[in-house]
Amino acid sequence: MTDEKLKAAILVVSETASQDPSTDKCIPVLQDVFAKLGNDQWEVASTDIIPDSVLDIQKSIRTWTDSENPINLIVTSGGTGFATKDVTPEAVTPLIDRHAPGLVHGMLSSSFAVTPFALMARPVAGVRKGTLILTLPGSPKGAKENLEAVLKLLPHACVQAAGAASRPLHVGGVEKLENDAGVSSGSTAAGAASGHRHSHHHNHSHSHGGHTGPKAHTKTEDRPQSNDPSAGPTRRYRSSPYPMLAVDEALKLIEEHTPPPIIDKAPVDMALGGSVLAEDVKAAESVPAFRASIVDGYAVRIPSSGKFEKGVYPVALVSHAQAGDVQELEEGQIARITTGAPLPPGADAVVMVEDTVLNSQTADGKEEKEVEILTDEIKSGENVREVGSDVREGATIMKRGEGITVVGGEFGLLASVGTTEVSIYRRPVVGVLSTGDEIIPHDRPGPLSLGEVRDTNRPTLLTAVRSNNFEAVDLGIVSDKPGALEDTLRSAFAKVDVIITSGGVSMGELDLLKPTIERSLGGTIHFGRVNMKPGKPTTFATVPTKHSSSTASRVAKTIFSLPGNPASAVVTFHLFVLPSLHKQAGIVPAGLPRVKVALDADVRMDKGRPEYHRAIVAVARDGGLVASSTGGQRSSRIGSFKGATALLCMPAGEGWVKKGEQVDALLMGKVGAV
Ligand code: AMP
Ligand code: MG
Repeated sequence: MTDEKLKAAILVVSETASQDPSTDKCIPVLQDVFAKLGNDQWEVASTDIIPDSVLDIQKSIRTWTDSENPINLIVTSGGTGFATKDVTPEAVTPLIDRHAPGLVHGMLSSSFAVTPFALMARPVAGVRKGTLILTLPGSPKGAKENLEAVLKLLPHACVQAAGAASRPLHVGGVEKLENDAGVSSGSTAAGAASGHRHSHHHNHSHSHGGHTGPKAHTKTEDRPQSNDPSAGPTRRYRSSPYPMLAVDEALKLIEEHTPPPIIDKAPVDMALGGSVLAEDVKAAESVPAFRASIVDGYAVRIPSSGKFEKGVYPVALVSHAQAGDVQELEEGQIARITTGAPLPPGADAVVMVEDTVLNSQTADGKEEKEVEILTDEIKSGENVREVGSDVREGATIMKRGEGITVVGGEFGLLASVGTTEVSIYRRPVVGVLSTGDEIIPHDRPGPLSLGEVRDTNRPTLLTAVRSNNFEAVDLGIVSDKPGALEDTLRSAFAKVDVIITSGGVSMGELDLLKPTIERSLGGTIHFGRVNMKPGKPTTFATVPTKHSSSTASRVAKTIFSLPGNPASAVVTFHLFVLPSLHKQAGIVPAGLPRVKVALDADVRMDKGRPEYHRAIVAVARDGGLVASSTGGQRSSRIGSFKGATALLCMPAGEGWVKKGEQVDALLMGKVGAV
């Protein structure tokens, strides 16, 4: 480690202290712990006091973790109890990339040694980006004890979390780590911190509370998370525990947690359309590879005098556009040549056929014998495409990040220089499923029974995925019965990179998605509610993947759980899923292009939420873009998507945006004309 100190931040979460900072006692107490027990390794670089608000907590933490010069350790104090206002764990959990249950155990068991009421706290710990985050209790005494219990262990964790290589740190083994940290395996971290050193006597009895080893008193799956579906409707949450994010915040989380693209080698063939290059491509050959004529005519040799004379010349050779050797052209001879054919060695220029007349033919009348060249204004190199004049061997013909469009120009360029293989970003494979016991295949014959709904989302989303040039796998319809979803998701992740589900994310008791992702798959829900219309319950999560050495695989797989209402599902696909697919495929910029459009009629705003209004965008006579609404925007009404080429970004507010006024629009399809 360098001499530079580790930076800590203290975040006090308290309604009272946020109103009157002079009432806070935690900051001085914790600063004291860092100063006294911190082995001179810590600098408290920042402190803040905020109310019990999920958004405020997340905002403070993000400013510390997501900056260019991040803090090494954030300790929060307060809001970890069971009172309804206690939301610190709910705010911190979605921010954590990697959980550190060991630290939670350490803190709980050390305070359990003091009072069994310690178990009434719900601490979380883990790493976001390069920063370690711990949630301490709100009482100054509890906060102090908890921090003391683990502080000596933290420098090592923070240095690793900040990106130091683990190998050099671990040279010397556990013993060295313990010595450096000032702890020993014979004592708990708490014992070491408070100076109790006992000769090691292994004792599994818990009655002697003073020095039990760190031991979990709760299991991961028992800690508060999303709705527990097995607990039944009486126990379900009655309001969403997920904070409501703005669309931009949600997009930022998607950008942050979408795994980076993977690089593959791919043959240059038709399947390449839509791919993005992961490496520059250099031309292996020149184009043209030989000096070629650009006209039909006669190749001539300019005499050593430097001046070509007009007159009658014997046609000594013929060069067609075909492979094979061509003889040398002598001075005083000409060669008939076709467009694209190689110049004979010795030839300097080509006279076009229009500048010549036939003078005589062979005895059999089949060949030209002599041709008169009518001009003497021929310069060396005239009508010749020189070697490499289109593409020079070794030149970079395409750059990393450039796309191979389905239009074909890039494919042609690669083909022209004989490129057989390129490095590209692997395009993610996308699985699509619908959830709901009421959902039946769209093409099931016969009338519907009461309550049945034809599956609209799966076919629509599969089409949307494919039309954006991604491979889509149909994962079918999944029942709302516990277990079904978990099985489907698990087996799907063996073959796809991204899963899109629809339905099952609202607050009904059968809504199993969030619990299945968190509890059964060990995934992290990055957001579960977005302030928008339609699409409020849109959920984005990642599930870490096991690393297999045989094939490169993504570090995490992404799940988008879209709302069940069809129009909501399609809006949120375009708004949230596409940018993630683009990022995974290396496509820049990610997401739909944003343009300004003028409304062709008044459009009412939603009072509460920004609305993504389906519309048809066309080029007006003056060259500007105009948008017409597709009509009723109810979230269940998929008809609002018929013909739609754009999503208007309508601000929230009272009243109307008037005809002729401009709003932003996200373009999904081609712009037509009025
Ligand atoms: P949910 O979020 O599962 O409660 O679904 C919200 C609404 O969307 C309900 O009316 C569902 O019946 C409907 N819905 C869910 N999935 C689909 C689907 N695949 N196709 C058509 N409607 C659906
Ligand atoms: Mg449902």
